[in-house]
Amino acid sequence: MPICIECRAPVKTLYTSYSKADDRALGKGVRLTQCPRCKRFADKYIEHDFVVIFIDLVLIKPQVYRHLLFNKLGLEDDRFHVNVPPSYPPPTH
Ligand SMILES: [Zn+2]
Repeated sequence: MPICIECRAPVKTLYTSYSKADDRALGKGVRLTQCPRCKRFADKYIEHDFVVIFIDLVLIKPQVYRHLLFNKLGLEDDRFHVNVPPSYPPPTH
C-alpha cells in the first residue's frame, strides 16, 4: 500500500483519474489524493517531472525518498521489486 510522503500514513491510492482525461482545459484528468491524516497531498511528486524530483533528491528532502522507495518501488504486497536485467552475455563457466 502506498504511503503519504508527508506523515507516512498508509493511503489506498495516490491519485484518481476521472473521465474528462481528453479535455486539455481541465488538465491531465488526474486528481491527487488528500491524506486523511495530515490533509496534505499524499504524494505531490506523482505530478512532478524528473528534474524536480532530482533537485529534491540533491536537497535530501525526506518526502522525495519516501516517494521513490515506498510509492515507486514498493508495490501492493509491500515488498520491493527491483528489476535486475539478466547478465548478457551469460557467464561461460
Ligand atoms: Zn499525511
